[in-house]
Amino acid sequence: MTNAREIITKAAVLYGPKELKFESWKLPPLRPGHVLIKVTSANICPTDVRKYWGYTKLPVPVILGHEGAGIVEGIIDEDSNIREEDKVWIRPIIYWCGLCKYCKRGAINLCEKMVALGFAGGSVEVGVKLQQDGMLGLFSEYTIIPKHALIKLPKSISLEEATFIDPLSCIVKAMEDSRLSEQDQVVVIGCGPMGLLAIQTAKIKGAEKIIAIEPIEERRILASQFGANYTINPDEEDVISRVIELTDYGADVIIVSTGGSSQAENIGLAIKMAAKGGRINIFAGAYPKQDISVDPNLIHYKELVITGTFGYTVRHNYIALELIEKRNIDVLSIRRPILPFEELEYGFKIYGKPPALKVGLAIV
Ligand SMILES: [Zn+2]
Ligand SMILES: [Zn+2]
Repeated sequence: MTNAREIITKAAVLYGPKELKFESWKLPPLRPGHVLIKVTSANICPTDVRKYWGYTKLPVPVILGHEGAGIVEGIIDEDSNIREEDKVWIRPIIYWCGLCKYCKRGAINLCEKMVALGFAGGSVEVGVKLQQDGMLGLFSEYTIIPKHALIKLPKSISLEEATFIDPLSCIVKAMEDSRLSEQDQVVVIGCGPMGLLAIQTAKIKGAEKIIAIEPIEERRILASQFGANYTINPDEEDVISRVIELTDYGADVIIVSTGGSSQAENIGLAIKMAAKGGRINIFAGAYPKQDISVDPNLIHYKELVITGTFGYTVRHNYIALELIEKRNIDVLSIRRPILPFEELEYGFKIYGKPPALKVGLAIV
């Protein structure tokens, strides 16, 4: 019986900044409601990279990784929805309370008690407890996941493609939060993996015009291939006057997806280039912590709406799955390079440096 079998997994364990070791970890016996997953494919996320370099404090040892998919290898309460050998995507949000003000609205991503896999969000103390219970981050060959955090994948979608349900769900929600509609002229600032997904999604949603702002030429070329009508190199052109020239009135929707140290500056630019009634989405986190100084009259007189997007709800996962399944969004071209699991540390080091985009791991 699966539950009686002792499972030893090979996992990438972080013991402190830049201290990553591959170790064998023993998983506890499987319990009802939980599923043993053989992780086959994972992606590195900037939140993992920040933890590797030590920018985010964590109790150690920790096993990171929250974007991935795998195969059901053990389950003691099989039912028609989930069986052994099913291909599944793993929702990193593995716990939400269902009782708080935010859960009542369906916003599980904002739940006061939300906990994400691989220390990707929520209480670190609970994260440690989950890790002890075998719910390891996805930089591990095996993990134990509660059933409710799985989506069974259709045959037509590969496990590699499925790793993008997490980032694409965030983009789907960002487009909703920005109330993107067909007449909109959209600007995407920053064409890393998320920006490139945003461009494709805006195109599918019928945006009238898409303008990509990105200093790296290689990424501007990709932005054009994925549907941007115009690209702007901010190192060579004045982005505000160029956006006004291309849109006449300014941009209706601006997705600020640079993150990192330039995030605050780019939000300032977005406020200036927005059309009246424009919506600005702060999609990525700003690290290190930074302040923005804006002219409040621009927000007042232009009636701007500034939104933030962090995570998603279950509904967004199914929309993302459908977009990938219908091949409306090309995710595999953004997944590069794909490294063997053992080269995870190299993946952390090259993350954010072209030609790398969303760095993938083949864990099998
Ligand atoms: Zn992530
Ligand atoms: Zn809640």
